[in-house]
Amino acid sequence: MKSFEQLGLSEEVLKVLKHKGFEEPTPIQEKTIPAILTGDKDIVGQAQTGTGKTAAFGLPIIELLQEKAKNVQALVLVPTRELAIQVAEEIYSLKGKKNLSIVPIYGGQAIDLQLRKLRKGVDIVVGTPGRIIDHLKRRTLKVDNISHLVLDEADEMLNMGFLEDVEEILKQTSSEKRTLLFSATMPPEILKISKKYMGEYEVLKVTSGQLTTSQTDQIYFEVGVTDKFEALCRIIDIEEGFFGLIFCRTKIDVDHVASHLTERGYDADALHGDISQNLREKILNRFKKRSVNILVATDVAARGIDVKDITHVINYALPQDPEAYVHRIGRTGRAGKEGIAITFITPSEYRKLQSIKRRAKTDIRKAKLPKVKEIITSKKQRIKVNLEEIIQSNLKNEYLEMSKDLLLKNDPEHVLAALLQQSFAGELDEESYAQIKEGVVDSKGKTRLFVGQGKENGLTNKKLADIIKDKCRISNDKIRDIQILDRFSFVTLPFHEAETVLSYFKTKKRSSGIYITKAKKGKK
Ligand code: AMP
Repeated sequence: MKSFEQLGLSEEVLKVLKHKGFEEPTPIQEKTIPAILTGDKDIVGQAQTGTGKTAAFGLPIIELLQEKAKNVQALVLVPTRELAIQVAEEIYSLKGKKNLSIVPIYGGQAIDLQLRKLRKGVDIVVGTPGRIIDHLKRRTLKVDNISHLVLDEADEMLNMGFLEDVEEILKQTSSEKRTLLFSATMPPEILKISKKYMGEYEVLKVTSGQLTTSQTDQIYFEVGVTDKFEALCRIIDIEEGFFGLIFCRTKIDVDHVASHLTERGYDADALHGDISQNLREKILNRFKKRSVNILVATDVAARGIDVKDITHVINYALPQDPEAYVHRIGRTGRAGKEGIAITFITPSEYRKLQSIKRRAKTDIRKAKLPKVKEIITSKKQRIKVNLEEIIQSNLKNEYLEMSKDLLLKNDPEHVLAALLQQSFAGELDEESYAQIKEGVVDSKGKTRLFVGQGKENGLTNKKLADIIKDKCRISNDKIRDIQILDRFSFVTLPFHEAETVLSYFKTKKRSSGIYITKAKKGKK
């Protein structure tokens, strides 16, 4: 496995990756980045959704493009509007200080806005085929000078009937360009396009070897992003003797989760690539000796960890690919011991989970999060068992003396209750658990909305939730899975509520200055 440094990326880009918390390239990045940077052939890349494809082509393209060019330099074609926005956002977040402008162009957005942006000069256009054709016809976009053309999720574009549009666009591009085609599957039509429109090309595949999973019990919970931490606490609390590994995607997330756990009184440590080898060994030893019972880690840092009797592996974030899933969960349920692997998914990640399930040939069943009452009952039971053990084996004289004194004046039940109250009040208090929005609406009954403002407009999770709550009188528990990006945001609502929001913002659009519309089916 190579590091990002070994792939030939510049210092500036490496800085951005560090800042984003990416520790090492994903398999498709490892293959694609050097091929684009140093080779000259076209590329056909086979990779699934969520494997880091965008950075795989985005990073080298950022490196190769010129600043202050007079024409559009790269065109990325994607099948859906949501994908156009996400891919544009991801590339924007990877460009660092390099002076490149990136614009998503998709149907459904006001054409005037797109015209204004295009007129200002754009380096990278990320668009859906239909709207790109519109602009080409109007001559408001020219692609005859591009140096890079990316066909992202090519199989999806074909499935959605964009073949003719894509061919039309391809015809208008210069023959000098490099074409990079990415697709999860390789049906014959894709290979036909490659043969017809691409030069000599290299096929880069991330092969999945035969994957086998252990007998670990595998379950998943649907939780909104903002409820993940609370869900994690519930899972830890309901168990007796939780001894688990928690996986996050980035170093930043690892630090975040570990420090939140510590603040809440758990014995947790963080393990990731920024921690020195020396300290890493110390942390691992502490975990092995069970001085801490929770280790939060990235895939990279957890590689090679062989700790016995881990009771739980928790995928706080979905892994990149089925291989990573199998590696992660292989850390529990070893040597005939039972283990539990838990995966959190946000409602929009359902598709990706299905793909992992299929490719890892494993069964992951849906479960419900423990209720606060069940956790409290389980804790009470454990306290009783512990107390009985002490009574049987370990009662010290000095405490027996105190007990006699107290019983001279008080009823035994009261003395005992007072003691329990003093010792466990915090732990047995239902109020110490925040509410989790239960029953995440099923995939049929919800609508993902696109909001035309993001961080750059000062929007935050809370602000967006407040706007929806206050203006449309929708309760907090219906508002799910808010995602605030730099210039756009997304939120998911049940159908009925989504319609209310859409009709409200249709009429009040101008006065509130916020544009909200349905997000098109995308990969996230
Ligand atoms: P994509 O397949 O491009 O949609 O990427 C899926 C997600 O993985 C995005 O949120 C990326 O920011 C993230 N990602 C991409 N590459 C890496 C990496 N090397 N390490 C960690 N996360 C990554």
